[in-house]
Amino acid sequence: MACVARPKAKRTLQEFALIRSLQRRFGQDGSPIIQGIGDDAAVVPSHPHQWLVITTDLLAEHIHFDLRTASFESVGYRAAMANLSDLAAMGATPRYGLVSLAIPKGRTQRDVDQLYRGMRKACRPHGVRLIGGDTSASQKGLFLNVTLIGTTAPGHVLFRRGARIGEGIYVTGTLGDARAGLYLLQESLRTATRQKSRLFPRSHRNVLIGRHLHPTARVREGRWLNRSRFASSAIDLSDGLSGDLRHVCAESNVGALVELDRVPISPSCRAYAESKHIDPVQLALAGGEDYELLFTVASKHQARMERQARNFGFHIARIGTIRPRDHGIRAVFHDGSVRPLPNTSYEHFR
Ligand code: ADP
Ligand code: MG
Repeated sequence: MACVARPKAKRTLQEFALIRSLQRRFGQDGSPIIQGIGDDAAVVPSHPHQWLVITTDLLAEHIHFDLRTASFESVGYRAAMANLSDLAAMGATPRYGLVSLAIPKGRTQRDVDQLYRGMRKACRPHGVRLIGGDTSASQKGLFLNVTLIGTTAPGHVLFRRGARIGEGIYVTGTLGDARAGLYLLQESLRTATRQKSRLFPRSHRNVLIGRHLHPTARVREGRWLNRSRFASSAIDLSDGLSGDLRHVCAESNVGALVELDRVPISPSCRAYAESKHIDPVQLALAGGEDYELLFTVASKHQARMERQARNFGFHIARIGTIRPRDHGIRAVFHDGSVRPLPNTSYEHFR
């Protein structure tokens, strides 16, 4: 998942290379696992009428959050939402949660209560029940690990690996808002720019900061795409469109063509980008933690899927097409040129 700060690269460790090596070493162990390392969540059979979908995310202070700009409530909320979003990407129904905490000196019962208030706020609409966890002291910084367990009907899961050539690439909601919100919070810490960022309209500012501190995982949309069998693959946008699309392409052994003019940008994000003289699409490509879904749909399902989305009030946009692997991952830029899409997403250790 994406972060607020880039750690200094002291070693040549690379997040996704490490995950690939774990996948190679532990991916095939012969037991009846449906999905091990390599997707948004693991999938294991539980009984003849149910599969379990299991995901975990670790939030580390100074890497994933900054307590000068985020409350304990929002940290708890985002930790739970990151997990809900991974279950959404698999099309699962969230059920149970486990929470592990490492707490540094100086933190109070009230701080921990606020963390749990945030987690409860995120989980309550989905009826998730807390069933355990672990607690430790920490030498430096707060660590919060949430594990969520969801369920799905056997054979009904959205994997990253299902995209096929010719299918449409869709996303939910609008992209780039959370990154703009993060930048606004970071700007507000720097006294020199405080005056300037005050000029940015408060209504847009509240929308963008709200999208960073209190994102909404697309659990309903994920379950719908899964049950209807409209989507052939899905991933949640936690690291940035340019990198997350790459995971779908790698797992599905395909390429992609993205039309950057079609990437959905909110009026608030557009206003922020204009105020900074930057292209808002760059915020969508690089910025994680919008927790929207990216999914692929075969041509024969597209019209019905789009009609149902409208009826349910789900916001979706088609942003491109799956292409053969040797086409690579390319984009139609605003000037009409077609070039490789640079990977500007977040990656730990990079
Ligand atoms: P997401 O951003 O969707 O949470 P990640 O990029 O964090 O996904 O992880 C991708 C895959 O790698 C997942 O299957 C995850 O469980 C697995 N993974 C990540 N870190 C580790 C680790 N340290 N040990 C084993 N599996 C890991
Ligand atoms: Mg994910």
